[in-house]
Amino acid sequence: MRLFDLHCDTLYEMYKRDCHFDKNELNISLEKAKCFDEYRQVLAVWSQNDLTEEECYRQLLSVYEIYKQRIPSGFPHILAVEGGKALGGRIENLKKLYEMGVRFLTLVWAGQCSLGGAHDTDIGLTDFGYEVLNGCFELGIVPDVSHASDKMFWEVYEEAKKRGKPFVATHSNSRSVHNHRRNLTDEMFCAIKEVQGVVGISLEPTHTSCGEPTVKDICKHILHYISLGGEDSVCLGCDLDGVTRNIKEIPDISHLPKLYEALRAEGVDADKIFYNNANNFLIRNVKI
Ligand SMILES: [Zn+2]
Repeated sequence: MRLFDLHCDTLYEMYKRDCHFDKNELNISLEKAKCFDEYRQVLAVWSQNDLTEEECYRQLLSVYEIYKQRIPSGFPHILAVEGGKALGGRIENLKKLYEMGVRFLTLVWAGQCSLGGAHDTDIGLTDFGYEVLNGCFELGIVPDVSHASDKMFWEVYEEAKKRGKPFVATHSNSRSVHNHRRNLTDEMFCAIKEVQGVVGISLEPTHTSCGEPTVKDICKHILHYISLGGEDSVCLGCDLDGVTRNIKEIPDISHLPKLYEALRAEGVDADKIFYNNANNFLIRNVKI
């Protein structure tokens, strides 16, 4: 069984708790991922929302130090930034991020920042937000609309379509299955699919179901996206070490095989969801 996960916040937790990647108490460690024959991970650097944009940028550099010291160079991964606040409000930092190896940028996280508004607002992209978005397309950083407002989502879609470039939602479930503003409407999912982007399924309980989510509830989101023609577009973006709490059946990465088996029982090509779709996207769109 192979795993290619599009989103986790493990780097920030490693920074905060001063722990290592090979063995730790977090949701993800190399030891816990041993159950996979191959394991690739998009490692996001999350920006704390209570900091100023300049402070976010400085924190990003601190987390990056931990990343350089503690992620083995042989581990197959892609670096990402979650929250455009980490640019410190300066467009030149986008190029710096690219040079550091960042290939995915979640534009916003919560509330409002210099790029625009998150899912808890009705605010779209600012002029700076457009500048960052276009900079991403030019440099080869994939814009990630997880956490974006609906307004921003459609603005990103229009730009992506104009440029013939994909964008992604690395960790966003289906709003038709569970009505939450962090989730994607069917139209949004199809728009991402139309520009050849991918969508990662998250294990965040509040985005999955009412009450305690089960593996079956996670499957429902995947099956719904597949019913929209998304067999080649749905991936996993579990958000481990970033979720508000872990779902009981999948307390860490070593329990993900339960989801794999549940998908197979539903007749789904689980290898596509667990690995191939994300890997194909990467081969097509991301220069490592
Ligand atoms: Zn997130």
